[in-house]
Amino acid sequence: MPDLSEWTTFPFVSPVEVRELEPAVAEEPPRNGEGGVDCWACEKPDADFLWTDERWRLTLYTPSPFRGVVLLQPRVHAESVAELPATEAAEFGPLAGRVQRAVESLGGIGRVHLNVWGDGGAHLHLWFYPRPYGRLQLRGTFLPLWGLVLPDLPDDEVRAAGEAVARALG
Ligand SMILES: [Zn+2]
Repeated sequence: MPDLSEWTTFPFVSPVEVRELEPAVAEEPPRNGEGGVDCWACEKPDADFLWTDERWRLTLYTPSPFRGVVLLQPRVHAESVAELPATEAAEFGPLAGRVQRAVESLGGIGRVHLNVWGDGGAHLHLWFYPRPYGRLQLRGTFLPLWGLVLPDLPDDEVRAAGEAVARALG
């Protein structure tokens, strides 16, 4: 294997072993909310969200070692960007830009990464992942992995940053 532990951006040091890759399954198991049935994201009340408008809702991710990790979701049950209704599809890019700017407005941020994965919940959710400025080791795709191994910030600090993002969105 390539010695990733020599990369300063890799969160682990040697010895690290690669897990054996299991055979592919013939049929994948359903995700939460597949087809809009018993979907956690659809069922959550607005009060559980950081910010909402007519068609979109924003969640603060906590606990976290980082300030300003948020997830943007449409109110309507769509399972990919391709499934968004026309109005939401037209709003998606501009709104993603507004959320990115709102997170950047916290200050002290090197870059805000946007990610759509979707192997967990079926309901479309766009991650905004801010990297603290100057933390060069946290650059790139290992950032979410660092998010799992670094100590979480105090809850009130993460929530205050979330409130600032919501205020910046208006
Ligand atoms: Zn849903």
